[in-house]
Amino acid sequence: MNNFTSFMPIAIIEAKKAASRGEVPVGALIEINGEIISSAGNRTRELKDPTAHAEILVIRNACSILGVERLIGANLYVTLEPCPMCAAAISNTRIANLYFGARDIKSGGINQGPCIFNHPQSHHKPEIYDGISELECRKLLLDFFKHKRN
Ligand SMILES: [Zn+2]
Repeated sequence: MNNFTSFMPIAIIEAKKAASRGEVPVGALIEINGEIISSAGNRTRELKDPTAHAEILVIRNACSILGVERLIGANLYVTLEPCPMCAAAISNTRIANLYFGARDIKSGGINQGPCIFNHPQSHHKPEIYDGISELECRKLLLDFFKHKRN
C-alpha cells in the first residue's frame, strides 16, 4: 500500500455522531480515488430500520449520488467488522477494498461466523485490511456499552 492515507478518522467521527444519537457507534464511508462520496453512522433506531447499518447507508447514498448500481474500484471504511448482511451487500456492490477497525466476535461475518467472503456463493471478494485504528474503534463500542449498563 504505497502512499496509503487512512480515511478511518472520518468513519470514527461518524461513529461518535451515531453514539450521540443513541445509536450503536459504528461509522462508515465510501471513498473513490481519494474523494469521500458518502459517510454515515448507524441509524437503525432513528429510522426504525434494522437494515440501516452504516455500511448499507453509505453504499445506498454513494450509488444514488453517482447514479450507479455498483461501486467498482471503491474503498469502504467501517469502524467495526461488517455483519453478514453488510458483507453480502459489500460483495454485491463490488467494493474493491474493505478497511475495518475492530473485530466483532459476536456479530461479525467476515473473520468469523459465516465468513461471507470465503463462502463459495460469494461472487466478489474485496481486499480486506482489518485492524485499522483498531484500539480507537474498539474503545468507542466499549465506552458506549459501559454507559448503557450504568
Ligand atoms: Zn451490518
